[in-house]
Amino acid sequence: LLDFRKQEQGFMKLKVECVDIVPFLEDVYRSFWELARKRNIVYTFEHPNEKMEVWFDPVQMQKAVFNLLSNAFKYTSDGKSVKVSVRKQQQIMEITVSDTGCGIPQDDLSRIFERFYRVDKSRSKQTGGTGLGLAIVKHIAVMHKAELKIESELGKGTEIKIVFPV
Ligand code: ATP
Ligand code: MG
Repeated sequence: LLDFRKQEQGFMKLKVECVDIVPFLEDVYRSFWELARKRNIVYTFEHPNEKMEVWFDPVQMQKAVFNLLSNAFKYTSDGKSVKVSVRKQQQIMEITVSDTGCGIPQDDLSRIFERFYRVDKSRSKQTGGTGLGLAIVKHIAVMHKAELKIESELGKGTEIKIVFPV
């Protein structure tokens, strides 16, 4: 909440560093390992086997990826799958979090990045939350001049990409 207020009031500043994104993402990935194991979720991390140094704010980007993963786990039932992947293409870096969870109705897709917006019919009622996670992710993406791409199909799953210029 404090982060959110800070963003809203325009006080959030980026502190960018040149970081190898693979070990960085591996760390975030690992924080959900135990949960995946307990819930029997097939959990994978796909990355090229090379150093991929890019400029970004690791503190903020960690929050963004963490929020996406937290959603993926919240909205995916036991036994299904969650995947993190990263790839670099010429001038862009793409971080993807995908799941085979409940999916998001097409009508709601354009609104889920709004603050406090939660999808009624999905698992939102069973799971706690305020509807701020994706608003925070969106803001962090914008600050990195990144684009957020989302594809989702009800009952099939969701894929969210953070695509940013390197
Ligand atoms: P908070 O993140 O503040 O704890 P939240 O997870 O409900 O709460 P957001 O992260 O902003 O809020 O997500 C908004 C809504 O988008 C969620 O309530 C949920 O309905 C939907 N949603 C987000 N990610 C997924 C996903 N991976 N699969 C299905 N629905 C999702
Ligand atoms: Mg969330």
